[in-house]
Amino acid sequence: MSFPVTRMRRMRRTEAFRSFVRETRLTPEGFIYPLFVCPGEGIRKEVRSMPGVFNLSIDEAVKEAREVKSLGIPAVILFGLPEKKDEVATGAWADEGIVQRATRAIKREVPGLIVVGDVCLCEYMSHGHCGIVRPVSTPQSSSTGAGAAAAVATEYEIVNDSTLDILAKTAVSQARAGMDIIAPSDMMDGRIAAIRTALDEAGFINTPVLSYAAKFASGFYGPFREAADSAPQFGDRRSYQMDPANFREALREIEIDLEEGADMVMVKPAIAYLDVIYAARQRFEVPIAAYQVSGEYAMIEAAARNGWIDRDRVMLESLTSIYRAGATIILTYFAKDAAKLLG
Ligand SMILES: [Zn+2]
Repeated sequence: MSFPVTRMRRMRRTEAFRSFVRETRLTPEGFIYPLFVCPGEGIRKEVRSMPGVFNLSIDEAVKEAREVKSLGIPAVILFGLPEKKDEVATGAWADEGIVQRATRAIKREVPGLIVVGDVCLCEYMSHGHCGIVRPVSTPQSSSTGAGAAAAVATEYEIVNDSTLDILAKTAVSQARAGMDIIAPSDMMDGRIAAIRTALDEAGFINTPVLSYAAKFASGFYGPFREAADSAPQFGDRRSYQMDPANFREALREIEIDLEEGADMVMVKPAIAYLDVIYAARQRFEVPIAAYQVSGEYAMIEAAARNGWIDRDRVMLESLTSIYRAGATIILTYFAKDAAKLLG
């Protein structure tokens, strides 16, 4: 049947009709709210490029976590800004590390809230890379100035296999602190198997792993690096994060992580990669998470501050589209504001 028998506008005439036939219902039940935890007390420092997002000391993070739970958001994910950084990411796996201490405090003060631990090393490494850095060859001592810097910048590698041990150690230490879900974001090969084995050996057989499986080397991460103070001091992350051009490779990454034992997988960023989310949803029978990253948040905030878009409307539309593509879980800096509007 076609027009005039078929009239698509019939079911759009009133909000009652529209909501009656709505296919995707936006609720906060799949939200994860990111928290950036820093040393000190009573600290609440706004991230310049992410208005409304703060570096929080543990006491403030607990308050924030309490508010998150009261808004019906089930989970937070923790990122840590350690006191000190070094070449072996001590702050990531120390039992008294910032994330471990924050986890214990939140689990104690806000029971029932799911705490997810981002497992990576970049925030704890002096060089800001997600793995161990090894020089490939010594730069020539005769070179000076900009040439020398360029030579150093290209002559290093991020070592895969020895990084796995540190990641596994970090995951176990977080689980010991009470972390509910372990979420590795480093993109080293074999890390899911290494982490699963280490968790099981330490007795954490019931701690699930949410893998950042398809994490693209994206320009949309810019503001996060300020928030987590994790920008690489040299080079970039293209030797371990994925090429934004590659869709089939993303599915392969997801498949491999599931074979290694991931319980859930993530696509990151979200809006620029909805095709990957959709395809993952069609192909894999596991919960799919999507990370609406700092740059996605910052663009909406900035345009809204200029009066160029309606912030709340674009916020809800962006979240709806991520669910519509097939995500079950959304990590988003909008979690609290969206939950307030939806509530
Ligand atoms: Zn990292």
